[in-house]
Amino acid sequence: MEFSKAIWLNGVLVHPDAAMANIFSHGLHYGTTVFEGERIYQGKVFRLTDHSARLLKSAELLGFEIPYSVKEINQATQDLVTKLQIKQGYVRPVAWLGEESLALMPDANKVNVAIAAWDWPDLFDQEKRQLGVRLGFTKWIKHHPEAVPVAAKAGGNYLNSCLALSDVRARGFDEALMLDYEGYIAEATGANIFFVKGERLITPQADRFLNGITRQTVCHIAETLGLVIEEKRINVSELEQFDGAFLCGTAYEILPVRHIDQYQYEIPQLTQLIINNYQALCNQGWD
Ligand code: PMP
Repeated sequence: MEFSKAIWLNGVLVHPDAAMANIFSHGLHYGTTVFEGERIYQGKVFRLTDHSARLLKSAELLGFEIPYSVKEINQATQDLVTKLQIKQGYVRPVAWLGEESLALMPDANKVNVAIAAWDWPDLFDQEKRQLGVRLGFTKWIKHHPEAVPVAAKAGGNYLNSCLALSDVRARGFDEALMLDYEGYIAEATGANIFFVKGERLITPQADRFLNGITRQTVCHIAETLGLVIEEKRINVSELEQFDGAFLCGTAYEILPVRHIDQYQYEIPQLTQLIINNYQALCNQGWD
């Protein structure tokens, strides 16, 4: 991966070597950071306003305020992407509490904001996209929604995802399927999940994990196609009844699942239909 050739840092464009965070940043020590993962298609960021709004919302959920408006973050992001001439790529905005105090209770710590963007055609190789990925269960459960604000895309929350992914990768799986605190199916480490049964889509209720923007796009596609979506608590024992499954997320896009632990799935027509419609929307653009 080639990192950003210029970085927007607190309002100015700087060379990547000059884009530094202080070693005593509160965010580095305690995970008081929020970030976004965005995708560039044909030179434009897909659902940019929704991502910028979520960045501000995530900060609010952690109790700090990003000193820029959604409009300003949008402008800075699109200007950077245009300047770097990125046609297919990734954007990573990040905001973190600065070094003014290392007390657990931040004391007027500055909120720093950086935006980086780079060329990045795909997260998965074509074979995985066509054949589907293998998910494994992990011993790590998703955060209890009363332990951390699960709707925030907060750096600290991602320790949970990092642990789960390392756990399953060590056993040969591509991704982890994580359960919530009651043992229901929640999501993957960086993507939401849908199941296919006949002409229906079934997905976990999004109140115990991040309700991804891609998940919302899939719901939008399903609505336009007149498909029924069932959002509910899903038991592991229900896995054998499904015809198929797919992951969805900004980086993953729509990614078919071939195995979950001992269960094996085909890639149903319906999954291909969602993939095609998602690709069409990305190419068409969505501000
Ligand atoms: N869940 C988690 C834990 C994630 O990190 C992501 C990626 N942001 C998602 C779901 C999917 O979110 P989105 O579709 O907004 O990328």
